[in-house]
Amino acid sequence: MTVRVGILGATGAVGQRFIQLLADHDRFEVAALTASSDSAGKPYSEAAKWRASGPIPSSVADITVTETTPEAVSSEVPLLFSALPSGVAERVEPGFVEAGYIVSSNASNDRLAEDIPLVIPEVNAEHLALLEVQRDERGWDGALVKNPNCSTITMVPPLAALDTFGLSAIRVATLQAVSGAGYAGVTSMEIIDNVLPHIGGEENKMETETRKLLGEFDGATIDWHDVSIAASCNRVATLDGHLENVWVETEDDLAPARAEQALEAAPTVDLPSAPDELIRVFDDPNRPQPRLDRNIEGGQAVAVGPIQETPWGIQFDCLAHNTIRGAAGASLLNGELLVERGYL
Ligand code: NAP
Repeated sequence: MTVRVGILGATGAVGQRFIQLLADHDRFEVAALTASSDSAGKPYSEAAKWRASGPIPSSVADITVTETTPEAVSSEVPLLFSALPSGVAERVEPGFVEAGYIVSSNASNDRLAEDIPLVIPEVNAEHLALLEVQRDERGWDGALVKNPNCSTITMVPPLAALDTFGLSAIRVATLQAVSGAGYAGVTSMEIIDNVLPHIGGEENKMETETRKLLGEFDGATIDWHDVSIAASCNRVATLDGHLENVWVETEDDLAPARAEQALEAAPTVDLPSAPDELIRVFDDPNRPQPRLDRNIEGGQAVAVGPIQETPWGIQFDCLAHNTIRGAAGASLLNGELLVERGYL
């Protein structure tokens, strides 16, 4: 079965990543592209300032970009991927869902809402069933699913694998790529020869989204994990790939060798864009590195460095591609999960 899909905010940095990932997808066919009123009415090749590598796929180049309203998108396009800025998404996504569309959104608004599933398929696919609660409470015919922030999604797969030892405290420092701020986000004068030691709102996203993702779903609500988390987020001069230094304390004793076994046994899912190996653990203390390791498994895997013992628990570094596993690739996986679970 081929599902016709649309991209909301298709001309932006994340929208372009969606276009790339969907170009050769064997179950999804891009049939609708939306953006702001400045772009509406133009063919995609003219509306998008294409900055991704390679040419614009010929299958989308001539599609006319529309306004981002339910009326402008054909109802024969049931699944929409949202790459809208969060302020815009907050205004328009509910209208699409009310009109019956299934929306897999990358925008940060409402990720913590009680009836909106925040999902990483390999970690908490069962949270998707929260959609039944969402539909009951809001009277929506469609559905709204979110994926987490790019820095959160980098550390959560390893943390989920270690939760069998009872996570009690996490400290994390990030080294985040400039693409995470969007094309116009950080100027070259700010970032060359520099590190920016704070990313507004990012620390809070890591501290809250992680607890929701690792929470238990009882069929009605999500009981957030009670692990305590402290994050410090830094912008560095890499293009793509967020590297994170993570310190973990657990209730049970956790030796590095046992932690490594747990990471290597992290479950995978059978979805078209899912990696065969979710977590790649390196023995080399000089890995992972953004330039070398961000594209493992097409950018959908998390790379983890050697695990160190500390006086309080363990420490490791992890890395993921921030616009693939951290953004468009994450929404794409959730779209595939929605199909697999029969929502389309
Ligand atoms: P972006 O490059 O600024 O693109 C924004 C997109 O939204 C464009 O297609 C733009 O269309 C459209 N848009 C803007 N205002 C609109 C309006 N009023 N109505 C309809 N469409 C409108 O942003 P981005 O970097 O791709 O980020 C998109 C989302 O992903 C944000 O929520 C961001 O926080 C999140 N995110 C980004 C990254 C990343 O690595 N960049 C990572 C994780 C999450 P026009 O071209 O017509 O203006």
